[in-house]
Amino acid sequence: MAISKKPKVSTPVHKHKPLSMYEAVLARFNQAADIYKLPEDVAATLRVPQKQVKVSLPVMMDNGKVKVFEGYRIIHSTYLGPSKGGIRFALDVNDDEVKALAAWMTYKCAVAGLPLGGAKGGITCDPRKMSPGELERLTREYTLAMCEVFGPDRDIPAPDMGTGKREMAWIVDEYSKIHRHYQPGVVTGKPITLGGSRGREAATGRGVMIHTLEAMKKMGIDRKKSTAAVQGFGNVGSYAATLLRSKNINVVAISDYTGAYYNERGIDLDKALQHQKKHGNTLEDFPGGELITNEELLTLDVDVLVPAALQNQISADIAKNVKAKLIVEGANGPTEVEADEILHNKGVIVVPDILANSGGVTVSYFEWVQNKQGYYWKEEEVNNKHDVYMQQAFEQVWYNSKQHKTNLRLGAYITAFKRLEKAIRYRGIY
Ligand code: NAD
Repeated sequence: MAISKKPKVSTPVHKHKPLSMYEAVLARFNQAADIYKLPEDVAATLRVPQKQVKVSLPVMMDNGKVKVFEGYRIIHSTYLGPSKGGIRFALDVNDDEVKALAAWMTYKCAVAGLPLGGAKGGITCDPRKMSPGELERLTREYTLAMCEVFGPDRDIPAPDMGTGKREMAWIVDEYSKIHRHYQPGVVTGKPITLGGSRGREAATGRGVMIHTLEAMKKMGIDRKKSTAAVQGFGNVGSYAATLLRSKNINVVAISDYTGAYYNERGIDLDKALQHQKKHGNTLEDFPGGELITNEELLTLDVDVLVPAALQNQISADIAKNVKAKLIVEGANGPTEVEADEILHNKGVIVVPDILANSGGVTVSYFEWVQNKQGYYWKEEEVNNKHDVYMQQAFEQVWYNSKQHKTNLRLGAYITAFKRLEKAIRYRGIY
């Protein structure tokens, strides 16, 4: 492959404006509801979030000036249990995006068979341009503003893009101070010393690996002869890549927001991780592969493509040129609605986000259970339980998609509908 000029990786190819994220959720929801014949009262209940909270967060910046940030927490549903979902710190966070992510959490928890509802939170900010002190004050202010929304039996946040165990530790501390007793179960994704679970950090990438193996078995792909390209080298992408590699799948391309790299012999992932550590957490100027564009990465001739960065990366135009046989959606919403049909007609199997990246919330659930028990499991136990949950979820989604003669995405929604409809009926609507 020819070496390209430095790519602008953040711009996917779009000929027209994509649907908003929540419109995309509703489009798929409505398609699946039609196929499954979801009763309209249940559908109407699930089409809207249960609660939406928006807060203004004044924060003293390091330069002595006050900056006011916007924060959100949207509870999509609590029919199956307390709501669960991450907190995103990013510049483009807005209520439409948070609403979509919250709804996906409802379906994700239901698909994985967890006794949890769905929620999501976010703050519109650029965490890369903020100091640790500014981020701490912002996170604590947000926790204070949300102290009546969050709760170990009410709504349990977790990390998402731009947040990690450090922010979760601040939330536990602030929430525990407000409530005057230690409450580790109020968030998951915590440091292990504060009641975090072993295996949580790698869990979403591990789930991506398990779903890739399950799909390959169904499709008759020999993993030892297979290749993969992974977009995004953060929490999900870096673990997904290294775990795929550990199963003898040759990862030939990786990327982050600074660029994409291709090596037909396989990327040396240890070197990539070391490079990332030394270069401000980026792959910039990584010498282990040719610099290619984002579009080239997404359309490489590989067996598996793992989008694990941002939403709306696989547009209809990209979909027409995708050569991978299997797409495993590590990210939330990486494939646009119009691309679904194109990929389906080309015979590309897409393991959808609400199944593919549900490993993270599954181990978050285990973390919450361990906090409630005050008893902590070994990593092997966590991983074994995780793998069983993921394999069962995959089987059910595969079965439902075959039963209803549809793709795995709509099969996953149908799997979720079956559980949600029962819960809503038992609890009752009055
Ligand atoms: P992260 O912030 O750790 O990593 C994101 C990665 O994407 C970084 O490497 C970043 O450089 C890269 N990136 C950003 N823009 C890019 C671009 N235009 N091209 C290529 N790479 C780009 O975030 P994460 O936690 O890994 O989350 C990634 C996705 O997975 C998000 O959609 C998130 O909602 C989803 N997800 C995360 C988890 C989790 O447990 N972390 C669970 C489920 C779903």
